[in-house]
Amino acid sequence: MEVASFLADKATSVSVVDLIQVPFQLTLGDQVGAYMQKLHEEKGVHFHFGTGTKEFIGEGGQLKEVVLSNGTTLAADVCVMGVGVVPATDFLKDSGLSLTSRGFVTVDKHMHTNVPDVYAAGDIVEFPLFTVDNQHVNIQHWQMAHQHGRIAGLSIAGKAQDIHSVPYFWTMQYGKSIRYTGYGPGYDDIVLHGDLNDNKFVAYYTKNDKVVAVASLGWDPIVSQAAELMSNGGSISKDEIRAGPDGWVVRLGTSHN
Ligand SMILES: Cc1cc2nc3c(=O)[nH]c(=O)nc-3n(C[C@H](O)[C@H](O)[C@H](O)COP(=O)(O)OP(=O)(O)OC[C@H]3O[C@@H](n4cnc5c(N)ncnc54)[C@H](O)[C@@H]3O)c2cc1C
Repeated sequence: MEVASFLADKATSVSVVDLIQVPFQLTLGDQVGAYMQKLHEEKGVHFHFGTGTKEFIGEGGQLKEVVLSNGTTLAADVCVMGVGVVPATDFLKDSGLSLTSRGFVTVDKHMHTNVPDVYAAGDIVEFPLFTVDNQHVNIQHWQMAHQHGRIAGLSIAGKAQDIHSVPYFWTMQYGKSIRYTGYGPGYDDIVLHGDLNDNKFVAYYTKNDKVVAVASLGWDPIVSQAAELMSNGGSISKDEIRAGPDGWVVRLGTSHN
């Protein structure tokens, strides 16, 4: 989507193909995803959802057409594949290191693997995330990899500290920036405040009665404040955010977050 937004005013035409139904559907949900789609469509980007790519047809070493699984053929001279990543940890299979079924290296809160004196950090690990009761998670963000490296280094230097970082990322498209903090997978509801049409909203992703992630656009610094609250060990209840968009902010800076 970031590539599409960059190319929208440069390429003759831009098409986005995805198996899902709405951009960012799994992470941001249908409403915010549809908002992102509209932003792109207003700039002329075309979407093909619920389908994948079947064939790339070229001529003289140059891409000419992309055939989709639904039979549609798109004229194209450039195709950018963004289809996810898998950890390149095959070489560790017989090393004695504990790997998950998806190939991630399991570490504890000090980034220590199950093997003495072996530490791991970054995109390849599953680590205990304190904001979700130390559930082992994989987070592929620069900020988290940076913190992992720091914690692993401190452990190696004999100054062990727990990993205590709240996931945070942002994306900028057409001058509009969505911020996101927390760990949303498994959310069961979304409480939205603001107005998508006015480019100003905050979306709370909840699981049971608790906010597990927050996304915003045009509502700074609410996502940073939520990250700070979570970092301080605080939490936001669903009742609170049903009552209003940001009443919980007053609890920042107090000792009872
Ligand atoms: C297209 C793209 C866009 C992204 N955008 C963002 C963003 O906007 N914001 C954000 O926070 N994050 C973003 N990320 C994620 C971010 O880049 C990663 O979370 C971060 O780089 C992870 O750092 P790392 O050190 O764990 O892994 P990497 O940065 O991938 O570094 C791993 C290094 O290990 C090397 N390596 C691999 N196998 C071996 C081996 N067997 N022996 C020795 N070396 C090896 C690799 O060559 C590589 O240099 C993006 C990622 C991609 C791919």
